[in-house]
Amino acid sequence: MGGRDAGPYRIDEMIPAEAIAERIGVLAREIEAHFAGTRQLVVVGLLRGSFIFIADLVRALDLVVEVDFLEASSYGNAMQSSREVRILKDLSSGIGGRDVLVVEDIVDTGHTLHHVLKLLRARAPARLETIALLDKPSRREVDIRATWVGFEIPDAFVVGYGIDYAQRDRNLPFIGQVVRPE
Ligand code: 5GP
Repeated sequence: MGGRDAGPYRIDEMIPAEAIAERIGVLAREIEAHFAGTRQLVVVGLLRGSFIFIADLVRALDLVVEVDFLEASSYGNAMQSSREVRILKDLSSGIGGRDVLVVEDIVDTGHTLHHVLKLLRARAPARLETIALLDKPSRREVDIRATWVGFEIPDAFVVGYGIDYAQRDRNLPFIGQVVRPE
């Protein structure tokens, strides 16, 4: 089993790089079928966690795509049922009347995706779909599901393949679970 000793915590491999690549190939065919005939698909990556996923996904897609990014920051009191989501970086292009695919790293409580979709829907895209590499359905607080999901995972803190722990570990080629010493 792969993994890395990162000092104060250990990272155990949960999803190998090969499994991610294989799953992206399958999902890309489904996305191509769904958006067949689209003139130019706007693929929107949610920064920063999705940057590696979107890079691999767009290269697997046999569609004309435009790549854009949105950065949202979610924070607030965990005791509150609804968390505030701020937009730190907005899209560079308009999406009115266009087909849009939002690319998220993890859907956890669902607040981030819920707020981002509400914001983008208000701009009247022709079609608005979502893909999440990882989904933690047991953590959901908002009734939302991505159109396509790479892998459903249990309630664990994961890193790698673009996803960080205090800005570290994004460059791991696999998805790993952070394991703290007892
Ligand atoms: P949500 O709004 O769905 O609760 O949060 C989604 C965001 O929380 C993800 O885009 C990601 O940034 C962060 N997140 C959720 N689970 C994890 C995790 O296991 N590891 C890391 N590093 N971030 C996570």
